[in-house]
Amino acid sequence: MKMKILVINAGSSSLKYQLMDSESGQVYAKGLCERIGIDGRLTHKVPGRDDVKQDIPMPTHNEAIKAVMDALVDPEKGVIRSTDEIDAVGHRVVHGGAEFAASCVIDDNVIAAIERCIPFGPLHNPANLMGIRACMEAMPGKKQVAVFDTAFHQTMPPKAYIYALPYEYYEKDGVRRYGFHGTSHKYIAGQALRALGREGHPEGTKIISCHLGNGSSLAAIVDGKVVDTSMGLGPLAGFPMGTRSGDIDPTIMEYLMGRYGWDIKEMLGVLNKKSGVLGISGVSSDFRDLSAAAREGNERAALALDKFAYEVKKYIGAYAAAMGGVDAIVFTAGVGENDADMRMRIASGLEYMGVKICPKCNATRGKEEISAADSKVKVFVIPTNEELMIAMDTAELVK
Ligand code: ADP
Repeated sequence: MKMKILVINAGSSSLKYQLMDSESGQVYAKGLCERIGIDGRLTHKVPGRDDVKQDIPMPTHNEAIKAVMDALVDPEKGVIRSTDEIDAVGHRVVHGGAEFAASCVIDDNVIAAIERCIPFGPLHNPANLMGIRACMEAMPGKKQVAVFDTAFHQTMPPKAYIYALPYEYYEKDGVRRYGFHGTSHKYIAGQALRALGREGHPEGTKIISCHLGNGSSLAAIVDGKVVDTSMGLGPLAGFPMGTRSGDIDPTIMEYLMGRYGWDIKEMLGVLNKKSGVLGISGVSSDFRDLSAAAREGNERAALALDKFAYEVKKYIGAYAAAMGGVDAIVFTAGVGENDADMRMRIASGLEYMGVKICPKCNATRGKEEISAADSKVKVFVIPTNEELMIAMDTAELVK
């Protein structure tokens, strides 16, 4: 469906936007509002033109959205004549709990349901709602769609999403695995099916989608539907990430909180912001810095990279076992798309399950298929595009 969709990703003090074509993915303009609630700065980018940077007071998200609208329709820096040209707005919403298994057109009921999910996404959902409300005020009557990070994972069977806790906490309190990066995993699943020549008939396909960025997660996808994923109730779970620990033994929390007198907020601060490959290396959360440090002989940087590759490899093995095989493994996001060495470390040693990388293809930037011609399992590198997925879902729902 060809439409002009404004994609909004609202954070607590920032707001990213893209005005794009929902069919071709062409980006007309994109940008970022920063320091909302502090002072306010807009960076507005139009392909082929110089970036525009402007200090604009943004006490709330309302002024931020107003600044975005003004930039989009500006006779000089704009790309449309009026906001009437925007067919609909698609919002990224982080936590949809068990309320949303798909994207949906926003109405009062949807807003109430997103509010009910705030306890699961206390940092993100309130900010996402501020973005939605600001757009409703700036463009009354314009169709708005919510696209949830959790929705694509709602097809998981109970054995994958249930935690081995007293069942009442699932029933009464909604404690279960939800999973994140769903918009990316959904886009990647679609692209992998295309690459496998199975678009429109995914029956029998088994795909492992590896979203490796600052935050990272894996998803096991059978027949185009998620059957398991590595993140949990929140995005701290799974394998080590840039600054997040991934799964740890909960006993560690009791031990460290006792020793250092931390409360749970301080403990979670360590697990969210000071752990992962940053925590192990003490160098950086950025894989480029870690590779450089490891090359110069920094042993902890080397250990951090080793740990990351090892844990991702274990998840791939686990998901192959869970699915009873695998047809394709896809690498995406900052690390997955760019770090050929990390892809090699992860995939090497998996020859026993039919994974054989072509080293030359893996080292060639922009090459989609990096498995050897005789590899039983196809291995792809596919750039993710969460904004396009949001635009596609939005166009589909409002057409
Ligand atoms: P986010 O989760 O914030 O969306 P990205 O998917 O953009 O993150 O991934 C960001 C990470 O990608 C950076 O922290 C960096 O470690 C990694 N990265 C980006 N480019 C490269 C590269 N050329 N080589 C290795 N790692 C890279």
